[in-house]
Amino acid sequence: TTSAAASAGGAPSVTVLAGPTAVGKGTVSTFVRDHFPDVWLSVSATTRRPRPGEQEGVHYFFVDDDAFDRMIEEGEMLEWAVVHNSYRYGTPRQKVLEAVAAGRKVLLEIDLQGARQVRDSMPEAQFVFLAPPTWEELVARLTGRGTETPEEQRVRLETAKIELAAESEFDHTVVNDRVETAAARLVELMGLDPRPAA
Ligand code: 5GP
Repeated sequence: TTSAAASAGGAPSVTVLAGPTAVGKGTVSTFVRDHFPDVWLSVSATTRRPRPGEQEGVHYFFVDDDAFDRMIEEGEMLEWAVVHNSYRYGTPRQKVLEAVAAGRKVLLEIDLQGARQVRDSMPEAQFVFLAPPTWEELVARLTGRGTETPEEQRVRLETAKIELAAESEFDHTVVNDRVETAAARLVELMGLDPRPAA
């Protein structure tokens, strides 16, 4: 491996968590952020509007199209993608580099397109695929969420099917059976104590 961290025997500084739509990436990464203070969860920029309860700078940086364009032009995005044919999402590069420089373990929760970009630009990162226990479970989670129209659900299921086939591109798979156990396995892959703090 070319990874400095890996050659030193430790887990890489940056871990990318990706997986199909509705598998629970957000839930697992939020659990990790809230229970494992040694992990720094990257905050993405997005052009979508905030949902009720979402806070600026905590869940996302909510920006308009012009601001997103500017961030791309100025090379501020480590990766970015249009997700579900609608809004743009991207990872601000500088914050990630600062966290790595500060010795933090960094977690990126992004979609598959973004994960592929990070693999090209930051090959020393490790890539973890979050998988549903079964396809039926994924369908149930997607339709049960109730935040999308039937047409949006159809599009997301099509996307999920394609995304499931990408598992072999990843270094590790974590099955999201229970959020607590999935988070513990992820944190262990990050080289940290998998017992949650309080
Ligand atoms: P939501 O709108 O439900 O918060 O997120 C929709 C999708 O966007 C999720 O699949 C999530 O993984 C993805 N996403 C969130 N932030 C980023 C990002 O910075 N980059 C990329 N490529 N995808 C992201």
